[in-house]
Amino acid sequence: MSAVVERIGAGSTGFSVEFFPPRDDEEERVLWRAIRELEPCDPAFVSVTYGAGGSSRDRTIRTTGRIAQETTLTPMAHLTAVEHSVAELRNVIGWYAASGVRNVLAIRGDPPGDPNGEWITHPEGLTYAEELVRLVRELGDFCVGVAAFPHGHPRAVDFETDVEFLVRKIRAGASFAVAQLFLRPEYFLRLRDRMAARGCDVPLLPGVMPITTPRVLGKFGELAGAPIPRAVADRLEPLAGDARAFRAEGVLIATELCERLIAEGVPTLHFYTLNRSKATRQVVENLGLLPAQSAASRERA
Ligand SMILES: Cc1cc2nc3c(=O)[nH]c(=O)nc-3n(C[C@H](O)[C@H](O)[C@H](O)COP(=O)(O)OP(=O)(O)OC[C@H]3O[C@@H](n4cnc5c(N)ncnc54)[C@H](O)[C@@H]3O)c2cc1C
Repeated sequence: MSAVVERIGAGSTGFSVEFFPPRDDEEERVLWRAIRELEPCDPAFVSVTYGAGGSSRDRTIRTTGRIAQETTLTPMAHLTAVEHSVAELRNVIGWYAASGVRNVLAIRGDPPGDPNGEWITHPEGLTYAEELVRLVRELGDFCVGVAAFPHGHPRAVDFETDVEFLVRKIRAGASFAVAQLFLRPEYFLRLRDRMAARGCDVPLLPGVMPITTPRVLGKFGELAGAPIPRAVADRLEPLAGDARAFRAEGVLIATELCERLIAEGVPTLHFYTLNRSKATRQVVENLGLLPAQSAASRERA
């Protein structure tokens, strides 16, 4: 099973995809359709988020394990410290290892119920992602990633302090970082520059989500932790009554953002898919990153 860091540093620009664990049989069918449709596109890795509550967590473990065992894809499991003792975390990491998962995104998670509520550390648990990174690395030959925030983490004292903590969790044993959503490349590039200024040059992957519906537009600012730029809203809002035109414009905006990021040398674009394949495929195809397209451009070169 490949390490994510090898897949993202493999030379040409690639892409990766993020799924969430399905809540019922219908969602499971939708997810597996997306996985099978994206498999021939050869993403660098596919990740599965880690929810709150036992059943959601079991589904993350099961889904990531199935990807490892039944597909040609490289899976990365997310893991959070929310409401877990260290003993439980050790158990989950053991399950990952047993099902062939060798890549873990170590994140703290948010308080259940109210993501902005007070963080309460489990009496026998961990407080920061940095500690989780250390734990995962101690327990086996895992390739570990961490979360990064182009607009600064919402709880951070200020942006510089947040970057300092990001660098600390990388020094604790992470090999790469995946960024929260953003729409203005300057914020992502500022974060990358600040990391480099601290001597930290691990790959930073941009988080990309094509805005395909007015609902996604409505939620995007909250997820990114920053308002939607006026220039983006002005392109999408007038199309709210025309689903097809809205979607096409959303895919175009994501494509343009990715083009700029590729020009800036990002190794891999990480797509938040909402368990659908079509929009990601369209952007990746627009960028010429599908395997057949890459082969054709190599031949032309
Ligand atoms: C790519 C990505 C994937 C995600 N996947 C999931 C998921 O699967 N499930 C889920 O529940 N959530 C997920 N999240 C959300 C994430 O759990 C929350 O944003 C959480 O609030 C922060 O997690 P973290 O790992 O960055 O925390 P930390 O790095 O621990 O940081 C939390 C806060 O504490 C500060 N801090 C960090 N270290 C220290 C320290 N040593 N001392 C003092 N302060 C410190 C930071 O500045 C920050 O404000 C994801 C986020 C991203 C960007």
